[in-house]
Amino acid sequence: MSTPTPLAPRYPVVVIGGGQAGLSTSHCLKKAGIAHVMLEKREIGHAWRHQRWDTFCLVTPNWQCRLPDFPYQGGDPKGFMLRDEIVDYLEAFARKTQPPVIEGVSVRRVSRHVSGALEVDTTLGTCLADHVVVATGGYDIPIVPPCAHSLPPSVTQVHSVAYRNPQQLPEGEVLVVGSGQSGVQIMEDLHLAGRKVHLAVGSAPRSPRMYRGRESTEWLHEMGFYNLTVDRHPLGDEARHKTNHYMTGRDGGHEIDLRRFALEGVRLYGTLDDIRGTEVSFRPDLARNLDEADEVYCSIRRDIDNYIAKAGIDAPAEPPFHKAWAPGSDPTSLDLAAAGITSVVWAIGFRADYRWIDLPAFDGRGHPRFERGVSAVPGLYFVGLPWLNTWGSGRFLGVADDAQYLVEVIGRRQAAAATNGASADCETSARLPVSTAS
Ligand SMILES: Cc1cc2nc3c(=O)[nH]c(=O)nc-3n(C[C@H](O)[C@H](O)[C@H](O)COP(=O)(O)OP(=O)(O)OC[C@H]3O[C@@H](n4cnc5c(N)ncnc54)[C@H](O)[C@@H]3O)c2cc1C
Repeated sequence: MSTPTPLAPRYPVVVIGGGQAGLSTSHCLKKAGIAHVMLEKREIGHAWRHQRWDTFCLVTPNWQCRLPDFPYQGGDPKGFMLRDEIVDYLEAFARKTQPPVIEGVSVRRVSRHVSGALEVDTTLGTCLADHVVVATGGYDIPIVPPCAHSLPPSVTQVHSVAYRNPQQLPEGEVLVVGSGQSGVQIMEDLHLAGRKVHLAVGSAPRSPRMYRGRESTEWLHEMGFYNLTVDRHPLGDEARHKTNHYMTGRDGGHEIDLRRFALEGVRLYGTLDDIRGTEVSFRPDLARNLDEADEVYCSIRRDIDNYIAKAGIDAPAEPPFHKAWAPGSDPTSLDLAAAGITSVVWAIGFRADYRWIDLPAFDGRGHPRFERGVSAVPGLYFVGLPWLNTWGSGRFLGVADDAQYLVEVIGRRQAAAATNGASADCETSARLPVSTAS
């Protein structure tokens, strides 16, 4: 894809990152006739290709894959693409749109140049830019708790980003830590392969998959949930940091009820608290975490029921939810050696890393501040992050709208700058408070 182009001294726009967010932005810029370059540290679609396990498939249905001017065209819109199909989809988009990408170049620093432009320092040299769009994803640093260091070397540790398949782990039982989307899917992957799994269950909510005759995301889409913007969300900005609902697209898609896995032999525990040698302790919150995940699950069902009743839709009834299993008491400790556990899979998420952006665009926790991706720093934008604007923003569903919006802002600012003969004023800079990245 990439041609070994030298870096030009200046670009109107630099897009950093060659995943779906960077590609979508580049396509919208191209359509608007705005010259730019896209810089990608590794290769296009790297995260989907190299940071997912072998049986990985989308949790969101294929019809939600709506890259700009390139919606999913395959024969299974209600299905869930496998990892390699997702890579094919992205590559086909890149072939069609021919982005001006330079691959294998890492951006090391973005700062303000004395001229007022943005300075982009890369492994290929330095360039100036009027506008910089950060499309680097939010999954830079795999989170592993400090107590992981206490585990003896005899226990293999792997983060979900490096998990590939059950055969990769040594023989023996496995402790998976975390019950977000990755954790429960990796747990299922191991369980289906016949491995004995122990799962530390956190506070992630869960979702129904099929309900009242349709897939739940179809109902939610029709009900307008995906159009809810973060400024109208009851949690506001905090929505950006909530864990996603767990379910799976595996084998055509199904919901994940951890109680049923417990009946099949998976051992459940509460939130992992500490590790001393081979002794792992858990908070006594398993029953509560299961109940809370179920409460979210039931509330989604209730929302769908109310919608069906109000709209007078003829949809099949469903049996009421019942708990298939409940823990007798909350288990609070586990001796890995005694249980024959030889590996631990950390599936407790990621942290974004923006320390390379030397501009006052962040809150005290290092999270970027923006309105629909437009930061308070003139010329700096973010795209592809969860709840950048809507629920679909961090996913295939919403990235086209977000990219298009940013390109319109950039286009307006370019036009204003051309008219004024000076850099365009930043529309939001007067409104947003600013602080430096921590
Ligand atoms: C496990 C998992 C499952 C998911 N499942 C779904 C799903 O079912 N459906 C859905 O719609 N979404 C899903 N997502 C969310 C989202 O679609 C993906 O995270 C997607 O990869 C985000 O695309 P992106 O372009 O924003 O970021 P990425 O795909 O992460 O791309 C960012 C790119 O930026 C590059 N980069 C980073 N730093 C630099 C730098 N300094 N200089 C140059 N380049 C740089 C990286 O190499 C990378 O290629 C999932 C995410 C995860 C982690």
